[in-house]
Amino acid sequence: MFEKVLIANRGEIALRILRACREMGISTVAVHSTADTEAMHVRLADESVCIGPPAAKDSYLSIQAVLSAAAISGADAIHPGYGFLSENADFAQMVAEHGFTFIGPSADHIRLMGDKVRAKAAAKEAGIPVVPGSDGAIDDIKEAAKVAKDIGYPVLIKAASGGGGRGMKVVRNEAELESMVKMAQAEAAAAFGDGSVYMEKYLDKPRHIEIQIMADTFGNVVHLGERDCSLQRRHQKVLEEAPSPALNSKQRADIGAVTVAAISKMGYQSAGTVEYLYEDGKFYFIEMNTRLQVEHPITEAITGIDIVREMIRVAQGSKLSMTQDDIVLRGHSIECRINAEDPKTFAPSPGKVGVFHAPGGLGVRVDSALYSGYTVPPHYDSMIAKLIVHGASRNECLMRLRRALGEFVIDGISTGIPLQQRIIGEKDFVDGSYDIHWLEDLMAADLDGD
Ligand code: ADP
Repeated sequence: MFEKVLIANRGEIALRILRACREMGISTVAVHSTADTEAMHVRLADESVCIGPPAAKDSYLSIQAVLSAAAISGADAIHPGYGFLSENADFAQMVAEHGFTFIGPSADHIRLMGDKVRAKAAAKEAGIPVVPGSDGAIDDIKEAAKVAKDIGYPVLIKAASGGGGRGMKVVRNEAELESMVKMAQAEAAAAFGDGSVYMEKYLDKPRHIEIQIMADTFGNVVHLGERDCSLQRRHQKVLEEAPSPALNSKQRADIGAVTVAAISKMGYQSAGTVEYLYEDGKFYFIEMNTRLQVEHPITEAITGIDIVREMIRVAQGSKLSMTQDDIVLRGHSIECRINAEDPKTFAPSPGKVGVFHAPGGLGVRVDSALYSGYTVPPHYDSMIAKLIVHGASRNECLMRLRRALGEFVIDGISTGIPLQQRIIGEKDFVDGSYDIHWLEDLMAADLDGD
């Protein structure tokens, strides 16, 4: 059993992990940069260690600094949260080599899924349906042109080591292909240190639907249903809901079973998410995230399962505390990501928060590290709060979300709250009929109207 866990993260996710640890009787070590001395995760943790200057590369991304903090504090295990070092296979490996437990999957699984070309091949091999496209990375443009012709334009060029929705290029016809591939390769090399790119059929109007899985070291694997993350801006998620308004229970059970079978075959352990695009009744694998996701609370809301607690249990060698039959999906949940940014221009809006008042009441959860008088530093991700609402039905959930967004007070900085209010008032959203392009189309229409 772990006695002390070091949380290698900041913000709301550091608090989320801290809360799970505390409820399990595990003491916590916060790490922080000099920009985060006054941060809530530092205030609430049992101990804290300053690991460097504000720039993430010198603090939250410094493997050496994080491992030193673990050694100094005598931690047994490290939870990486999401972002930062969470999908860094070398980090996971070094954590183990230094005698700590990494609360997550094996370094080999992180490495495999971090290379999207290898991940896609592994998924296909394990029986998961994938988006038609190039077999591996593109190294011969003539070959690529042949494949593109076969699958049909438009096609999408993606970076093998890409992430965060960056580095994708839509190619509409053969004349553009060569120059776009070259550009994508150069950009991928500069941004991700790996110039390999691959090609996929560009799906026209898909939804983004992902399956949450949990696996232990005894070969038990379960899925916790799906999340619909189609509301995106620049391929980044803005609002998520579970269950998806687009699926029926048979489709849910089928894709869940396919995913569980594949994950079992791979011998994966810990929490993970298999992401699919869904169009015309068919699922296509796009990637697997080998970590806790930002949007995990909506799954917790409809299953009643504490995902972080299960991750910690699995890492310390316990069996999953439930079987597939124990998992019953109840009601509907929606999460709004609230960023410190201008709701129209999306320019970041760090700075000092005046009054902070979080909504509450039945079925309302706010995961945030903000407090009145806190200064949001400019150095990190702009997400400052997540509002998660649960209701017996989708309609009840929407009514509650509207009520809760109206109660939220974050003075002093601009936030995305007005954007979220706008989204949930739209008829298409209320009807559940939207795809991955819907939000950008809505905003483009706004600009045209201005
Ligand atoms: P990243 O790792 O950068 O997040 P993903 O492969 O997960 O990249 O894709 C992110 C988003 O990009 C998806 O949710 C979807 O909106 C869009 N996307 C990815 N692949 C395709 C595709 N083949 N066709 C259309 N849209 C796609």
